[in-house]
Amino acid sequence: MASIPTPQPVPIRLEGIVKRFDHNVKGRIAAVDNVDISVAPGELLTLLGPSGCGKTTTLRMIAGFEHPTEGSIFIGDHDVTRLRANERNIGFVFQNYAIFPHLSVFENVAYGLRVQGRPEAEIRSAVEQVLDLVGLGGYGTQQPHQLSGGEQQRIALARAIVFQPRILMFDEPLSNLDAKLRGQMRGEIRELQKRLGITTVYVTHDQEEAMAISDRIAVMNHGSVVQIDTAEALYARPCNAFMANFIGKSNLLPGQVLQADARGAQVRVLDQTLQCLQAAPEVRAGDAVRVVVRPEQISLAPGGGPGSASVISRTFLGEKTEYQVQAGTATLHAVAYGAGASARLAEGQAVQVVLPAEGNAIIRD
Ligand code: ATP
Repeated sequence: MASIPTPQPVPIRLEGIVKRFDHNVKGRIAAVDNVDISVAPGELLTLLGPSGCGKTTTLRMIAGFEHPTEGSIFIGDHDVTRLRANERNIGFVFQNYAIFPHLSVFENVAYGLRVQGRPEAEIRSAVEQVLDLVGLGGYGTQQPHQLSGGEQQRIALARAIVFQPRILMFDEPLSNLDAKLRGQMRGEIRELQKRLGITTVYVTHDQEEAMAISDRIAVMNHGSVVQIDTAEALYARPCNAFMANFIGKSNLLPGQVLQADARGAQVRVLDQTLQCLQAAPEVRAGDAVRVVVRPEQISLAPGGGPGSASVISRTFLGEKTEYQVQAGTATLHAVAYGAGASARLAEGQAVQVVLPAEGNAIIRD
């Protein structure tokens, strides 16, 4: 299998980064507001968040296409805050591949090396190696229009890595591809990134893509990082209501803290006592809180009786059945997988709701 020598992976560090645009329609409101992020050597970190939250601006500052109003950016031990983009040794893959339509696949990838005046033999060997690496071996003489969208995206990838960059950056690289190809390409990008071991920053607004491709995800909103962690941790321990609803679906159930210590908190929710994870800031006995309960964590069983609830709506979706359930004043979203009894409940039916006994997150806002 082809491989190109890659430099030692380097960390990236953003310290107190603020970006204000002079001509922003919102006035001088910060597009990026006091962001601290550390990316470990060889890590793939994704910036994820709703439109306008500042992901692209953050990425462009790391790449050197924009300069921060305040704060510092380090690549390895070097403060690169004031360096130009071409002095940072970063490979960049954009959403629109920026491919030259009149150049062959080979020449598209060779272009930057030719501009640098590298010797012909070196160019030939480097381009052939990266074309093999991205699965385009043998495509060198083709014209870009003869290739599919996925193959064109591979040209862009080859062009980014042919310089042996210290860092790779992706800005919504898969947005122009259909859903099936997106799934395939994200797998290929991840596999290549791991193989090369290059520290990578990836921007997307697609939550599933972020979860599938990343070592860790930094979720941004209104210019700030809300939470940064692995996909599993963000799902299990969202830090606030925005996070609980942004990563997956959740029920935010009101509860009362019965007792709490450093390890956890007992919370009374819907007539059940749950052993929950301590929140930050810590909760204390008597606090009114909300508990994050995912739809798939709710067990529904047919049957009435004290504390029973009723099915308001049922949506059959093949491998799963979604329900809305009224339990006292709370409306719950629940989901049942497979074809068991819990997937065959009818609208109007009385049901028993069982919440997970332990491990759920508490939020304070
Ligand atoms: P999207 O997913 O829609 O691309 P984003 O999270 O990448 O959004 P940014 O493109 O970083 O968000 O934009 C953040 C904020 O900064 C927005 O309010 C945007 O209007 C503003 N902004 C970005 N670039 C400029 C610019 N060159 N001049 C003025 N304002 C800008």
